[in-house]
Amino acid sequence: MSQLQADSLPQLTDVDKILSNCEKLKKLMEKHEQSIKQAALSLANVLGDDPNNKDIMDNIDKSFLTTIALEDAVITYSRNAANLKSHVERATRGNLNSQDRIGLGENLADKYLKDDYKKPLNLERSKTSVKYNNLKREVHSVNHSTPLDGLNDEDEDLVVASQTISIICPLSQATLVEPVRAEQCLHVFSKAIIFQMFKNSAQIPCPIAGCGRQIAKTQLKRAIDVEETVKKELRRKENQQRRNDDDITEV
Ligand SMILES: [Zn+2]
Repeated sequence: MSQLQADSLPQLTDVDKILSNCEKLKKLMEKHEQSIKQAALSLANVLGDDPNNKDIMDNIDKSFLTTIALEDAVITYSRNAANLKSHVERATRGNLNSQDRIGLGENLADKYLKDDYKKPLNLERSKTSVKYNNLKREVHSVNHSTPLDGLNDEDEDLVVASQTISIICPLSQATLVEPVRAEQCLHVFSKAIIFQMFKNSAQIPCPIAGCGRQIAKTQLKRAIDVEETVKKELRRKENQQRRNDDDITEV
C-alpha cells in the first residue's frame, strides 16, 4: 500500500513548475495593475472631473478589480500548490502525519489543487482590497485637493503606511523628483538622475542590482502614481512639522 501511495505522488519538479508559473503570473498581474493605474491617473489628469467620463473610469475600475481578483485566485492556487509540495516532501521522507493519510486511489494533486480558479471572480471582494482603495484615492486626488472620504491626517498616515511605493530614488537615496518608471522592469528613478546615466548611449542596463534589463530613455515613463505618493508624503510631513511647531509655541 505504501508503495502504491508513493507511486501516486506527483513529481516534485512538476509541483515546482506550477509554483514558478504562479510566480510569473503574479508578476504579470502586478505589472498589469500598474499599467491600469497609470492609465487611470493619466486619464483623470487629461479628462478632469467630468461626470460624462464616468463610463470610461468605470471600465478602468472594472479592469483593475478583475486583475486583483485574478491575482487573488493565483495566490490561492499557489498556496495550495505549496501545501501539496510539502505533503509530497513529507511523503517522500516517510514522514506523513495522520491528517496526511489519504484514501487509496485518491488523487493528491486534485485534493490540493481545487478548481477554485474556475469559479466566477468575486469583484465585490476586490473592492475591499487596499490596492483598489489606494487607486480610488489617488485618482480622486488628481482632480481634488481634499482627500476622498474626507480623510483626516491620521487616516492619510495609514494610507501612506500601507503603500509599498517608495518615495526614495534608489540612485540618489533622496526623495524622488519627477519620478519615471522603466516600462520593462517597473523600477522607478528620479528623472534627471537616470537620464544622466545614459550619457551618449541609446540604452543602458537598469542600474538596480540584480535587474540589469536594457532600458531606453523613451521607455522611461512619467510615474504619476509615485508623483502622487511623493506629494502626499511631503504634505503629511509638512502637517507633522506644523503640529510640532504648534506644540513648541504652546510651551
Ligand atoms: Zn530594473
